[in-house]
Amino acid sequence: MHKPIIAALALALAAASHPTAQQPAASASRTRITAIRAGRLIDPDRGAAAANQIVLVQDGLIRDVGPDVAIPAGAEIIDLSKLTVLPGLVDAHNHLALTYKEDPERNIYYFTYVMDPTPLRAIQAVSNGIQMLASGFTIVRDMGNNGNYADTALRVAIEQGWVPGPTIVNSGIIIGPMGGQFYPTPEMAKDHNIVYPEYLDADTHDEIVKAIRQNILFGAKVIKICVDCKPYGYTADEIRLAIGEAAKAGLKVEGHCQTVAGARRAIEAGIWSIAHDSGLTDELNKMMADKGVWRAGTETPLTLTGHTTKARYDRTVAGLRNAWQSKTPLTFSTDADYFVPGKTRGEVAIEFIETWKAAGIPPADILRAMTTNGYKVSETEKTRGPIRSGLAADLIAVTGNPLESIDALRDVRFVMKDGLVFKRDGVIVPGPFFNPGPVKGWRIR
Ligand SMILES: [Zn+2]
Repeated sequence: MHKPIIAALALALAAASHPTAQQPAASASRTRITAIRAGRLIDPDRGAAAANQIVLVQDGLIRDVGPDVAIPAGAEIIDLSKLTVLPGLVDAHNHLALTYKEDPERNIYYFTYVMDPTPLRAIQAVSNGIQMLASGFTIVRDMGNNGNYADTALRVAIEQGWVPGPTIVNSGIIIGPMGGQFYPTPEMAKDHNIVYPEYLDADTHDEIVKAIRQNILFGAKVIKICVDCKPYGYTADEIRLAIGEAAKAGLKVEGHCQTVAGARRAIEAGIWSIAHDSGLTDELNKMMADKGVWRAGTETPLTLTGHTTKARYDRTVAGLRNAWQSKTPLTFSTDADYFVPGKTRGEVAIEFIETWKAAGIPPADILRAMTTNGYKVSETEKTRGPIRSGLAADLIAVTGNPLESIDALRDVRFVMKDGLVFKRDGVIVPGPFFNPGPVKGWRIR
């Protein structure tokens, strides 16, 4: 390396480490105060609505909320007085960088994995994220199957300010005993390492620790493990080891569980959340309620034709109803990793309310799962989610009242993310989200 380059680099780094030098120039749209007139404002936590409220937004944050908030002179006024305003929605289990094809692979995504390189999947993830945001999802937990960390690329791109999208809580690569969810041939597994990077093989204690450290190093914000994808799944002690290692970096662990025995081990170990409902019996739902384990049941509706069967759907509806009756902590989760012609990824996700309706769960409780509980499982509730002074200005508006009919969420007319309008009058207006550089800071990783 030439000395002048080193000198230039040193200067650049010195400037970058200086706190005032690194502050991005605030754009006009970020310093202006915005006042939102809400015809009705919903607090999903209390299941209550208040009429004629004003929400003041400045610099991406909510500054004030209430019926008599004074609107400063010169503030931009957004009139949502004919709409219901509520906090953004959360999908607690999605796969934005996976879009498997019905033909030929259908749930067994070797084809996608071989044909869609990570850069293409990262671009798919940006598109899927935009589609989720358009349907009102301002937070998505992205739980693996993202090639070589396309999920981290998506999260960082959104956080640095390159593209619009939900706040992403991403898992990095799914960690599991040998094979993950794949069943490769010996030559594909041994000679071509085909399991990686869809799954990170971790069989011994050392490998589990190292796999978690790899994910943390490469930008994961939650850890996802395959508890029982194989007959040689993780023991409760191995799950505890994973939980302890993840906790060093402040991360929680979600377990993919598909058997009763696997789910039981995960609950006994004190896992944060369990994905999928197939192992969750009445007894385990009650254990989860006792221990405060989040349920990300991924309850596929029958209306997404071909993605579940009538028999399986009936079990799913009964299981979800049992969990609700048992007071199991419920999150709204979809496991969306496919496309349905004619529907956006966001419309696919919203369709899952059909299962919740079929389970006889009241709209207020469905909405709580989609908001309050979503913030808690994502651990954003102190920074992002509720419409409260000091928190990120994420909110949406719909025409009906979701506390009366949850179907109101099918028609999201307005979306604000980090204080910027993303959708207005039912039309996406993402211009302010596109930037020619990392305007929120290159240090975001
Ligand atoms: Zn999944």
